[in-house]
Amino acid sequence: VESKKHGIVIVGYGGMGSYHAKLVKDNQSLEIIGTYDILEERRNASVADGYKAYESFEQVLNDPAVGTIIIATPNDIHKEIAVNAFRAGKHVICEKPVTLSVADFEVMVSEAKAAGKTLMVHQNRRWDEDFLIIKRMYNERTIGDLFRLESRVHGANGIPGDWRHMKEFGGGMLLDWGVHLLDQVLYMVDSKITSLTGRLSFIMGNEVDDGFEATLEFENGVSALIEVGTTNFITLPRWYVKGTEGTAIIEDWSLKGKSVCRNNDVEKIEPTPIRAGAGLTKTMAPPSEKATITKELPEPLQNASSFFDNFAAVIHGEAEPIVKNDEVLRVLNLIEAIFESAEKGETLHNFDIYSA
Ligand code: NAD
Repeated sequence: VESKKHGIVIVGYGGMGSYHAKLVKDNQSLEIIGTYDILEERRNASVADGYKAYESFEQVLNDPAVGTIIIATPNDIHKEIAVNAFRAGKHVICEKPVTLSVADFEVMVSEAKAAGKTLMVHQNRRWDEDFLIIKRMYNERTIGDLFRLESRVHGANGIPGDWRHMKEFGGGMLLDWGVHLLDQVLYMVDSKITSLTGRLSFIMGNEVDDGFEATLEFENGVSALIEVGTTNFITLPRWYVKGTEGTAIIEDWSLKGKSVCRNNDVEKIEPTPIRAGAGLTKTMAPPSEKATITKELPEPLQNASSFFDNFAAVIHGEAEPIVKNDEVLRVLNLIEAIFESAEKGETLHNFDIYSA
């Protein structure tokens, strides 16, 4: 017996909106029943893709067949669309960054609560396999205790698109890629942040950052460097991490990488000195071949379910959300602190809203 699927409308049928339609396509209990976009061109694209194009946002809100609204518009209007959706009795899946400030997000959460509806933020990069490999290494101590995480994404194309260049739309790389990379690290490292230093880059002369660096120190001894660049014609690896037993690297999204660990089965072997530049060094000489073991990376540590399966279970009261609003709030709070640290040129303490 085929039971009726839960109806979803995508608001904002641009790049990511149309990707959502693909993500939901084969879901067993969710169905895209239409889209709404302010641009006629995008409404036509929706029809061409086989999805009804609603003529107004009001029409979406008034349609009882719509159970959930996916928000995939530029960042500045997520909040307004979400509040209207909750007031019309709809659940919301919202693109990242969920909104531009902690205060705005608190309004969204309280409106969802008042309506008795679900708000789930699409932090889809919690499902990235490169991240899930590092998460397994962190949890399972594959190279000992991970104490240093370097997470980078580097491009050379500047900031893409139109609205991403503008502050009023919530543009800039900290809000765009930053929210993903920060979310990953906080999802993995279960410890309070004790200090933060943030730096923004404005190489391209835009009014918003074209990249940033954030250094986080956690109470449990882990330190993390998170870096996004759009002016990097030569890129550094996606991940470089150090553990008490070794070092690991993931080059890129093809998951190419390795770990190299101390070989505890052999007596400590002194390295042979090498010529380095105009000098001689033993300290920086490569370890002798027998002193280390090179291994393949472990398999990614998979989440309990996909984002959309989890969402369906959440709205039916059958599961806890994998992306929790308290976690989203904490990341937004961290982003505000990075802006503040960068502006003041100072390291910040006592800002984290971690709750053990
Ligand atoms: P985009 O510019 O390609 O698409 C945005 C669409 O929203 C456009 O078609 C625009 O006409 C429409 N729009 C604007 N205002 C609207 C309104 N009031 N009502 C209805 N439609 C409206 O942008 P994008 O790259 O698709 O980004 C959209 C959102 O998705 C952003 O929040 C972005 O951060 C997020 N995003 C997430 C990921 C991810 O992997 N999670 C990837 C890309 C983008």
